[in-house]
Amino acid sequence: MFKNEVIERIAKEFGAPDRETVKVTAWNISESFGAVVQTDQPNREDHAFVWLPYPPDTESLPEIALEYAAESGRHSNTYPSPGLERGKPALKLIVTSSQELDDLISYIKAFKSFAPLPELRSNPSVYKASEQISESDLIRVDTSAMPKTKPVKPRREAIPRAVQREVWQRDGGKCVECESKAKLCFDHIVPFSKGGSNTVRNLQLLCERCNLSKGNRI
Ligand SMILES: [Zn+2]
Repeated sequence: MFKNEVIERIAKEFGAPDRETVKVTAWNISESFGAVVQTDQPNREDHAFVWLPYPPDTESLPEIALEYAAESGRHSNTYPSPGLERGKPALKLIVTSSQELDDLISYIKAFKSFAPLPELRSNPSVYKASEQISESDLIRVDTSAMPKTKPVKPRREAIPRAVQREVWQRDGGKCVECESKAKLCFDHIVPFSKGGSNTVRNLQLLCERCNLSKGNRI
């Protein structure tokens, strides 16, 4: 079974698994990155399913990530692994060859070397110092002559291709309102300007016409 080969290889590289159930063999690669090999599936001899946390940006998607899923196809046995908690999107990789297994190992290694940033903590001494500044120490500046800056719009980030692909597949490549296949676009259900994000759940396919009429309603 190819999945056993995958399990043996990950164990060789990253040590004994942290969790083994009938359904999964799982490693806590780092505090924020887990790797899960599904052991109850697939039933085919020649490939293995591996679950990894969804990468922070589109550039680092592994070539072998053929399928992307938020929750679909994932069972609760993956949830205790770091980065794969319930409600978080995850990558499902279908590993089918030694080359892809090599790629998977290098991909995990790259994430292992990535240490999360320390949390910012407020420094009480700084606040104390600023409180001691008296009114007379402040330099008076006439700000009325300053040019007005334009209000900054929230930066609209590109929708990751993986997310696009999943939305496209879910909506069947057609407008969810009128089923047109012409001039389709990815529409944010909660608008980007109102805090809506680039998640599969917040995106839908709309044709240009339906998108415009939605815009007029809001
Ligand atoms: Zn439409």
